[in-house]
Amino acid sequence: CSWWDHVTPAPKDPVNAVTEAFLADPCPYKINLGVGAYRDDEGKPIVLQCVREAEGKIAATNFLESTSTAVSSKFVEESAKLVYGEDSDVVKEGRFAGIQALSGTGACRLFAEFQKRFFPDSRIYLPDPTWSNHHNIWRDAHVPERTFHYYHPDSKGLNFVALMDDVKNAPDGSFFLLHPCAHNPTGVDPSDEQWQQISSLFKVKNHFPFFDVAYQGFASGDLERDARAIRIFLEDGHLIGCAQSFAKNMGLYGHRVGCLSVLCNNKIQAVAIKSQLQQIASTMYGSPPIHGIALVSKILSHPDIRAIWHKEVKFMATHVQRMRATVREALEKLGSPLNWQHITNQVGMFCFSGLTPNEVDLLAKEFHIYMTKDGRISMGGVTAKNVDYLANAIHEVTA
Ligand code: PLP
Repeated sequence: CSWWDHVTPAPKDPVNAVTEAFLADPCPYKINLGVGAYRDDEGKPIVLQCVREAEGKIAATNFLESTSTAVSSKFVEESAKLVYGEDSDVVKEGRFAGIQALSGTGACRLFAEFQKRFFPDSRIYLPDPTWSNHHNIWRDAHVPERTFHYYHPDSKGLNFVALMDDVKNAPDGSFFLLHPCAHNPTGVDPSDEQWQQISSLFKVKNHFPFFDVAYQGFASGDLERDARAIRIFLEDGHLIGCAQSFAKNMGLYGHRVGCLSVLCNNKIQAVAIKSQLQQIASTMYGSPPIHGIALVSKILSHPDIRAIWHKEVKFMATHVQRMRATVREALEKLGSPLNWQHITNQVGMFCFSGLTPNEVDLLAKEFHIYMTKDGRISMGGVTAKNVDYLANAIHEVTA
């Protein structure tokens, strides 16, 4: 008997399992629609021009210990402005605790740990469905989860009535995780009016809104527009938490650049909360690498580079919207008897196609097209070159 006999393999992450199956397939025209990453028309990852420009600017800087605090606080302030607004009082008055985090995942993990430490009996309410790792993150922080209604399989849109019921029926002062834009995996976002109602009800119930901001810019192409939900809550006077990721909207997937911010009533609270968050991070990994943070900081604070970034975000979002329209039109042209309106109604990186697990299997086996079992299509992997092939394959398996 050895030390590790009782250790069995961990369950596979659903997206990594798709990537593995994709990589093992020798077919030259295979398509990976699993991972939520933006690709060019060759299906290759891209480095944004704004990142190249920022690289050039920081190449001369040396990341000495003495400069890292300055880089980090600049990064946190710029990140906070992006979600709460350039002129927001909370940022101007320093009424928030913010720290750099290991991308969106790390920001969520830090918050979950903070929640457990200071609200030991609380739960987290997650939308049904949500990014699968949300379940794991709060579970590993020992915070029990509940789900709230979100998606309606018949309309392939929002189940607003059931969502509001769940918000109303949750105990007062509950923690809720919300996707402010480009919901993963459904691509379904509440309208501004619906956000308004959700925010009002949160106020009545004294719930805490924790926003996971992983795709700012990807829903509308406009970073400000995509922060609308957060601004609605802000205007209503909520204290808010935000986990921000720059993985998708700056194409910095592997660099792990993120920010966690928590709004506070005053500066004294902000100082206390920040010190607690820093302490949680310090026992897990110290602090994240500084290079990615310096890159993002440069992009956000240099007006010319920032303008390039805004254009590139717009381009990526528009490209995804165009691919949505093309898939839908192609399916309609092929004479599909099914309704594909949801492909263009949904927004952001993902299309919750409504394909059944069996149809998803057929797409992989017969057409070398890979996606998660829930029928989620990562639109970032749909290109001008593969879109007709994809539409045809979807038609074949659903006809
Ligand atoms: N939150 C959501 C909703 C996501 O979809 C993702 C990534 O897929 C993340 C967080 C984590 O992103 P990151 O790669 O920045 O850790």
